[in-house]
Amino acid sequence: MTKLSQRVLNMEESVTLAAGAKAKALKAQGRDILSLTLGEPDFVTPKNIQDAAIKAISDGRASFYTQASGLPEMKAAVNSYFEKFYGYSVAPNQVVVGTGAKFILYTFFMTVINPGDEVIIPTPYWVSYADQVKMAEGKPVFVQATEANHFKVMVDQLEAARTDKTKVLLLNSPSNPTGTIYSADELRAIGDWAVAHDILILADDIYGRLVYNGNSFTPISSLSDDIRKQTIVINGVSKTYAMTGWRVGFAVGDEEIIAGMAKVVSQTTSNLTAVSQYAATEALTGPQDSIEIMRQAFEERLNTIYPLLCEVPGFEVVKPQGAFYLFPNVKKAMEMKGYTDVTDFTNAILEEAEVALVTGAGFGAPENVRLSYATDLDTFKEAVKRLKDFMEN
Ligand code: PMP
Ligand code: GLU
Repeated sequence: MTKLSQRVLNMEESVTLAAGAKAKALKAQGRDILSLTLGEPDFVTPKNIQDAAIKAISDGRASFYTQASGLPEMKAAVNSYFEKFYGYSVAPNQVVVGTGAKFILYTFFMTVINPGDEVIIPTPYWVSYADQVKMAEGKPVFVQATEANHFKVMVDQLEAARTDKTKVLLLNSPSNPTGTIYSADELRAIGDWAVAHDILILADDIYGRLVYNGNSFTPISSLSDDIRKQTIVINGVSKTYAMTGWRVGFAVGDEEIIAGMAKVVSQTTSNLTAVSQYAATEALTGPQDSIEIMRQAFEERLNTIYPLLCEVPGFEVVKPQGAFYLFPNVKKAMEMKGYTDVTDFTNAILEEAEVALVTGAGFGAPENVRLSYATDLDTFKEAVKRLKDFMEN
């Protein structure tokens, strides 16, 4: 008899982390694997941020627990970030800081979800949302976005999915895995619908600064006072500041929900690692020029790689506007190679072409694969060449 809880038995492992780990393990065995798996910038954390962390350690400031909801300095940094990029101020009791945006999302679900509450998740979705909702005993309700509509859901689809159990609508723009960005008008329509039905909006804005080719990101919470009151914003420094290893995330919004989330933090991790809070404070308030250099590098990669990927037989690609992923539909490619299951197809590419991708299955997209271009251009070009060879042979 298994000793595992039903909760764990019902969960899937994160397919992104699993694909990344598998690629690393094969490389360690001497295989020449090119990994386009993880959404993890290949840059190191900028020097000013490293220095702030080292100084916090040598000054003795990083030796101690902090308040569960976060250091006052870090909350002040979040406030100045919001004033600059969201156009409004946030009070310290509207901010909770935690161990990565991923854990902050989990904290949110643990705070607001009662058994059976429904969370609407536009699909394709980032891999962890559905399992986190289930861990909190909620019910994920998937609303399908189509490639024809650039992977966006519309209000009439949300309305069709709404029940008296709908508690939260999750929005991730720019999206992982599709790179889609909703326009201000689309967000206003969705926000007004959520306000009208008293549905909380969970806005995962983690890719908000990674937008390309003249596209722009509008935070839904900036669109009206009513929408802001209804929204909990999730953000962090992992992607924008090349800080995945520091594990910093934060949530901003309604005081009561934030206090509930701080309670969950206080009973789980106690607080986000002090040194990471000092580093993130510098990230959010210090010089931002290195951020723009990284953004431009991602943009150049996207513009170089996108046309190459379009030439791979059977790969149909919608050009992303933000984040750092390409999410081709490979239905035709699977047919050409005799596969019906996208995970089997992804595994065959790994074995035969030695290119590691992430199966669309974990994103609720059984006809797609994900490629991360948080990878240097030469690796990516070689990987696309291998994909082309794989499809042509
Ligand atoms: N949200 C999205 C959409 C993501 O892609 C990620 C990936 N890391 C996260 C949240 C979590 O980020 P982190 O925990 O590294 O802050
Ligand atoms: N979010 C990144 C990704 O989608 C990192 C891995 C993870 O947190 O799932 O690849």
